[in-house]
Amino acid sequence: MQLTTQDVQSWFEKFSDKIKENKGYLSDLDTPIGDGDHGNNMARGVNAYEESFEQKQPATMSDTIQVFSMAMISKVGGASGPLYGSALMNMVKETKQIETIDSYEQLGNLVEQGLAGIKKRGKTEFEDKTMVDVWEPVAQDLKAGSLDKDQIEKAKEHTKDLIAKKGRASYLGERSKGHIDPGAASSALFFDALVEIVKE
Ligand code: ADP
Ligand code: MG
Ligand code: MG
Repeated sequence: MQLTTQDVQSWFEKFSDKIKENKGYLSDLDTPIGDGDHGNNMARGVNAYEESFEQKQPATMSDTIQVFSMAMISKVGGASGPLYGSALMNMVKETKQIETIDSYEQLGNLVEQGLAGIKKRGKTEFEDKTMVDVWEPVAQDLKAGSLDKDQIEKAKEHTKDLIAKKGRASYLGERSKGHIDPGAASSALFFDALVEIVKE
């Protein structure tokens, strides 16, 4: 397993495409337990990333992640923007000195740093029914040496059973049960895109 700067750029490109394709779906998930804008928010973020990428032409892994982070922080608007932004900022720091990611363990550590950024910024724990519920199992699975789409899907689906403790969905209490968390769904797309580039 090895990921180059080019691979990370393909990862973000695939993620951007998936967000645009699933914009309606993500906003629909956000309608019963939020304010119905998650797909639109994320689409603004990835469009800004693509524009900024073209302009800045980042040459390193760290600079690529930085461009993505800044786009999410400045353009997403909703709660999810600064949370993805914090995850990505931690990943910028973690990749400063490296040219390639050479093992699942290293990739898992990188995702774990991102996860720590979300938890700190959002004051979030596992099973609060947020994006953390996808990031955390993915980090663990990567560190254990594998990641596939079934594992990601399971983590995302599990948010359905949970009562939201953070974000807008938490206003609904018990009534948040039975719905997939939209941020967990966009994060699932993020890691689906990763699985695709690891296989290529
Ligand atoms: P907003 O709620 O401001 O409209 P979005 O709809 O773009 O923002 O994003 C909502 C998503 O953000 C939620 O589905 C959840 O995954 C995530 N989220 C919200 N608050 C937190 C938090 N404190 N910690 C982690 N994730 C959070
Ligand atoms: Mg919303
Ligand atoms: Mg909103």
